[in-house]
Amino acid sequence: MTAPDEVLSRLKDTVGAKGFSIDPGEIAPHLEEWRSKYHGHSPLLLKPATTAEVSAVLRICNETGTAIVTQGGNTGLVGGQIPLHGEVLLSTKRLNRLRGIDDGTVTAEAGVTLAQIQQAATERNSLFPLSLASEGSCTIGGNVATNAGGTHVLRYGMTRALVLGLEVVLANGTVLPMLRALQKDNSGYDLKQLFIGSEGTLGVITAACLRLFPRPDVAVTALAAVPSPQAAVALLCVMQSHTGGMLSAFELIPRIALEFVARHIEGTRDPLAAPSPWYVLMEATGGAHANLAASFEDGLAAAFASDLASDAVVASSVAQAAALWKLRESISESQKREGRLDQARHRRAGGGHPRVPGQGRTGGAGRGAWRAGRSASAIWETAISISISIHQALVTIRPSWHNGKRCNTRCMTSSRNSAARSAPSTASG
Ligand SMILES: Cc1cc2nc3c(=O)[nH]c(=O)nc-3n(C[C@H](O)[C@H](O)[C@H](O)COP(=O)(O)OP(=O)(O)OC[C@H]3O[C@@H](n4cnc5c(N)ncnc54)[C@H](O)[C@@H]3O)c2cc1C
Repeated sequence: MTAPDEVLSRLKDTVGAKGFSIDPGEIAPHLEEWRSKYHGHSPLLLKPATTAEVSAVLRICNETGTAIVTQGGNTGLVGGQIPLHGEVLLSTKRLNRLRGIDDGTVTAEAGVTLAQIQQAATERNSLFPLSLASEGSCTIGGNVATNAGGTHVLRYGMTRALVLGLEVVLANGTVLPMLRALQKDNSGYDLKQLFIGSEGTLGVITAACLRLFPRPDVAVTALAAVPSPQAAVALLCVMQSHTGGMLSAFELIPRIALEFVARHIEGTRDPLAAPSPWYVLMEATGGAHANLAASFEDGLAAAFASDLASDAVVASSVAQAAALWKLRESISESQKREGRLDQARHRRAGGGHPRVPGQGRTGGAGRGAWRAGRSASAIWETAISISISIHQALVTIRPSWHNGKRCNTRCMTSSRNSAARSAPSTASG
């Protein structure tokens, strides 16, 4: 499917010397996806720096029937950004300007990374709530194109809910200027919605106008052990009710994901005393005047009382909250490393198709089959890693909690039965 030389020359002329590469060394990182599952090839990497250049590129591609793939930060996990059939590759990395920011909105070009937008919002004491583990590399154009979710969908919605306006170039080069910042807008069709989640199939997003929110003053973060997903759903209702709907994150995590993280990611550990089949990482955020910590702890106490949770750890510092979030945000990375380990084990054992944890096998039968298939040494490694984690958790997280101010803080560090009736303690756990 490689385009003729004459077309490639026209495309190069359109973007100028800085706007393209045919250097295999420079193109190579754009051809492989993050988990090394998809590999592509391309004769030409285009790096347009303006909307006008994107428009000119697409017009030529349209005229000549040249296939093109758009790529942002190349963090997508399903290979949509990889030129699998030798397409021309269009990178948005040079569309990297913040066009404007005020207290309620930020307008950024497609290649600005999510972390840069978060930082720009923070500098104005505002919040851009989209948050993904890939935020240092993924771009806002990619986030909009994939309608990314992340960890704060519960309070703020998917990316779709954060977009006020878009600038898009259609396949024939037409620029759709839809960069409106107006929230209360009922003027006819909302065309931008078509492009959110369209993964580059309908056009190239060149800029987005996004909503900003007030920055919360207080955050309460906890990891709770729950017996089942059903209990987690009930726990969500209990916590929302006790905090007046202030939960901003509520992430269900299976035990196996925590095992992978503890095994592969340096500086992580299981902070709870005993393994549980499921965990919930939750966070409530609000203003300085809301008594959020107290209502959060009351919610947890109610959850213990009705067997919705068996144990929990509440962060008592920003560092502890970050440590809990690291468990969640490292899941993708740990899956990748576990997958490689599993492939290597299979190769050594002379096995056939390696299994990829977390891929294509869901539900009890699949998971059971996968676990049963693991080698005894793998299970042993996991057991060691858990016991080390418990030890480290006891000496690092628990003491600082026990300096907690509320008497039921201790209840949440230990199991419901032993905890609830303990007096506040200064013991170091
Ligand atoms: C560690 C890790 C954690 C992740 N966590 C999450 C998560 O919690 N939630 C989640 O939703 N995703 C998650 N992802 C997936 C990924 O980060 C998101 O899908 C992200 O939105 C992709 O952005 P990108 O800039 O890297 O896009 P790319 O990977 O470059 O592209 C993704 C798709 O969007 C298209 N595209 C990119 N830019 C444009 C544009 N300007 N115009 C039109 N189409 C475009 C591409 O053609 C492709 O189809 C995670 C990935 C990793 C590696």
